[in-house]
Amino acid sequence: MASHLANIYGTEQDRVNCAFYLKIGACRHGDRCSRKHIKPQFSQTILLANVYNNPAHTLEGSTLSKEELQKDFDRFYEDFYIELCKYGHLLELHVCDNVGDHLMGNVYARFEWEAEASKAVDALNDRWYGLRPLHSELSPVSDFREACCRQNEMGECKREGFCNFMHLRHPTKSLVSSLNASQRLSRRKAAASGQDTVGEEMGWTPSAARANGGGGGSWRDGGDVGWKPTRQ
Ligand SMILES: [Zn+2]
Ligand SMILES: [Zn+2]
Repeated sequence: MASHLANIYGTEQDRVNCAFYLKIGACRHGDRCSRKHIKPQFSQTILLANVYNNPAHTLEGSTLSKEELQKDFDRFYEDFYIELCKYGHLLELHVCDNVGDHLMGNVYARFEWEAEASKAVDALNDRWYGLRPLHSELSPVSDFREACCRQNEMGECKREGFCNFMHLRHPTKSLVSSLNASQRLSRRKAAASGQDTVGEEMGWTPSAARANGGGGGSWRDGGDVGWKPTRQ
């Protein structure tokens, strides 16, 4: 690619490629966008579109306290973290709290290897979560700092949930450290026993969310096999 083209690739000046799709993996025009959305053939990042339903946006959920909403979200985050670890080395997991159709409840996961991401996409397209079939695809997003709304991080975004950059919902910090530690331990154990990925037999430290009555169990395969993490 000529250098003058490389400089504008995926920027606002690029008249061919959609900057939003490249940076955020979703754009509000969807398939009707006048610029190209070139789906990557290989990527470390996958997108699961419209999966997280924040109860705060529903009638039944409007009465929940801030703590209850956080607990609900932590349970969701943990469910996906544990499931995604089965396909490879999970490096990042992000969930959008936007309310616009193209970003609402989007889950993005970045793996160490492209092959792991491809395996996850294939497997997850056969799965259900929360009574709905999942839709999974490889995503062009590589840098989540670029994809996130800076104003939102400073609490100043005027577009709020309708913003076209990611507004992430953050899990409780101690949950993330505990999940990261569990993944490290399981990967070490799996490597020692000659497996290339962590299986379901690994032990996870139960999180506060689950210990306090969180059930998980929202997963379903094509068949009727409910997926549950095995715990020590
Ligand atoms: Zn677009
Ligand atoms: Zn914003």
